[in-house]
Amino acid sequence: YRANLIRLKGREAISRDGLHLRLLANIELPEDAKVAQENGAEGVGLYRTEFLYMNRKDLPSEEEQYEAYARIVQAVAGPITIRTLDLGADKQVDSGRSQGPTPNNPALGLRAIRLCLKEPDLFRVQIRALLRASSLGRAQIMLPMISSVQEFRQACAVIDAARLELIAEGKQLSGEVPVGAMIEVPAAALAAPWLARQARFFSIGTNDLIQYTLAIDRVDDEVNYLYDPLHPAVLQLISRTIEAGNAAGIEVAMCGEMAADPKYTRLLLGLGLREFSMHPEALLEIKQIIIESDVGALRKEVASLMQSQDLQEMRERINALGGH
Ligand code: PEP
Ligand code: MG
Repeated sequence: YRANLIRLKGREAISRDGLHLRLLANIELPEDAKVAQENGAEGVGLYRTEFLYMNRKDLPSEEEQYEAYARIVQAVAGPITIRTLDLGADKQVDSGRSQGPTPNNPALGLRAIRLCLKEPDLFRVQIRALLRASSLGRAQIMLPMISSVQEFRQACAVIDAARLELIAEGKQLSGEVPVGAMIEVPAAALAAPWLARQARFFSIGTNDLIQYTLAIDRVDDEVNYLYDPLHPAVLQLISRTIEAGNAAGIEVAMCGEMAADPKYTRLLLGLGLREFSMHPEALLEIKQIIIESDVGALRKEVASLMQSQDLQEMRERINALGGH
């Protein structure tokens, strides 16, 4: 089976009815860029930058970050979406956060963009390194855990200021670097029509979106039986996000685990998703499904099943879409 999949490596992800879908890789370590390429990724849809901050007591300097980002931007042939620091909750490090009391609900606390906006020096250093490295390739910046338009604009203001600062210092920058929002908090999904006027792209983070929508701690084994990507509330939020992005003419990707699961590929195609980002090992299997799918027919079937009043029936119709 794997040997068959390998043959798809150089082939484009074009559906039976001729639609080109974009398959991208999620990467964490610089060496992952190679694995992504080997599995035929068109680019990187999520580059997690936390690894730079892990297993150490101090914070990485601008220069150290610049070198790491520059290396990866140059190693990736296609576009690369770099996510700003997503620390807190399930991603703890020794350095990087102010010494406050341990929060009762870390997933609802000072994590990701919230931490970065609270500690502008931490954020500014990363943004400067990112802007400098971006000019070496096709990079864009993605903000995690955005929960409102105001928060997105506040982060953009920091990015604009860093840009002006670099220009004043005489640094060579390329054109403007697109800034997008991760949609992984229900509030952001519901505010997607407004966010789409500010953000240059969306990327749906289903790992957190499901956690927050269903109020299930993603790392608590006691409740993981409730973790359900097909819960109608989750599907509504995904569907609205894709529609808002498509209506505004911005790109919408999905970079949560749901995008890597072959059980959901046809459902997501039917919901209008055009970009899938996942751990590189999953790429070829998802490509195989895309190549065998008729997206036009899936759009109709999924629009119809989403109207179903009978949740059992809805689930059966989703399963009947096929996949692997
Ligand atoms: C997500 O939340 O779906 C996501 C892709 O980000 P992470 O798993 O790193 O929180
Ligand atoms: Mg997340």
